[in-house]
Amino acid sequence: SAQKIEKSKTIDLRKKHIGPSCKIFFSHDPIKIVQAKGQYMYDETGQRYLDCINNVAHVGHSHPDVVKAGAHQMELLNTNSRFLHDNIVLFAEKLQSTLPEKLSVCYFVNSGSEANDLALRLAWQYTGHKDVITLENAYHGHVSSLIDISPYKFHQMPDFKMNPSVHVAPSPDVYRGKYKRDHPDPATAYADDVRDIIHKVEEKGGKIAVFIAESLQSCGGQVIPLHVRKAGGVFIADEVQVGFGRVGSHFWAFQLQGEDFVPDIVTMGKPIGNGHPLSCVVTTKEVAEAFMKSGMEYFNTFGGNPVSCAIGLAVLDVIEKEDLQGNALRVGGYLCSVLEEHKKKHPLIGDIRGCGLFVGVELVRDQLKLTPATAEAQEVIYRLKEQHILLSADGPHRNVLKFKPPLCFTKEDVDFVVEKIDHILTEIEDALGMTCKLNINNEGAKRKISAENHKDHKIVYSKNESKNEASLQTKRIKI
Ligand code: PMP
Repeated sequence: SAQKIEKSKTIDLRKKHIGPSCKIFFSHDPIKIVQAKGQYMYDETGQRYLDCINNVAHVGHSHPDVVKAGAHQMELLNTNSRFLHDNIVLFAEKLQSTLPEKLSVCYFVNSGSEANDLALRLAWQYTGHKDVITLENAYHGHVSSLIDISPYKFHQMPDFKMNPSVHVAPSPDVYRGKYKRDHPDPATAYADDVRDIIHKVEEKGGKIAVFIAESLQSCGGQVIPLHVRKAGGVFIADEVQVGFGRVGSHFWAFQLQGEDFVPDIVTMGKPIGNGHPLSCVVTTKEVAEAFMKSGMEYFNTFGGNPVSCAIGLAVLDVIEKEDLQGNALRVGGYLCSVLEEHKKKHPLIGDIRGCGLFVGVELVRDQLKLTPATAEAQEVIYRLKEQHILLSADGPHRNVLKFKPPLCFTKEDVDFVVEKIDHILTEIEDALGMTCKLNINNEGAKRKISAENHKDHKIVYSKNESKNEASLQTKRIKI
């Protein structure tokens, strides 16, 4: 076994020495992982888990090429970036080759939060403006400046005082959001809301510095930047979760908005180092020059060090060599099509959305009222864990099963996990008396779902269920 101390001792030491706000998965019965390879993780007994959630281990856990690149560079040298070194410039050049030409200047940092904080500073300095527009439910990082613009976080704090220069635009969710799929033009409607926010800010004497959004969270990508730029602001695309080929059809998720859509600043993190702490801000020459004019030097002790850059380069090489973007497209497409098939017979499945290997399955108790099936989603997660599959539930109601596996995920993995989910959903639906009749006619299978509110079902879950991503210790539902 690769463990150093008994699991119970690990738990005791963790309770004693690690901050209690740092949550772990399944905290009532946590998993101790000691090794991982590809899309699999192994606990201290050698039990294998299929990993459907580790978007950081992008090219697969412990990929030999990445490990070798890091170890080799550690043997030679690691130091700050105040010396000339080939790794930082070669990595920057290679990253640039994946981006529109205009995005040519890199700042290397160590986490997604550092990247977004620096991106805000660049935007403020370049525009001379202060106001920020962010999206409902957005998360951009854990430092003070980003908690201010992360409703996902500040909504957890009842006494949170919103920064007056931060403005929240509706989340462009066409399933549950303000404008849904039945709206004639939801993209324009969401963009119009952003335009209205800009006008209100300007009426009060404010000036828009920036619109920040995760590239998959945003829609109206053609229109919103026009409004923002007209107001003198810039557009930050947060690619921390969704970049590096995960969406399959493109290397960057912002490219889903169209060929000619170019953000002013792109922030990267998580997958960029395959688990090594490495992140990056990429911007235009103009923004970088304006930042230089502030007169303040930018220095980051670990950012862009030779080891991190060797690892970053190796990750890009593996994505290319193993066609992982292509795999994300193929396997992600397969995952969605298999899930769509299952949606036909499961009244609990409300919506399936995503791109490539970034897929969400929203569970609802009622297809018309869209009542979030939060406890049911937790139950799915727990039962999958018992069957050694790691999946998470996310979203403002914690009712969205979220697939974001390493990009080496296979169709066999898809079949394996979806079959288990199918069983679990059937059992929960049976226990809840959720009926689903398949009326087969010439047009194919049509679903007719009982719209009863399941008021008297036996699910019990606590009202103050924490919204924290890692706190999956909520009460199990009892059926
Ligand atoms: N932006 C997004 C979209 C994220 O998902 C995260 C992390 N969950 C961050 C920024 C912050 O990155 P980090 O945890 O590396 O600071």
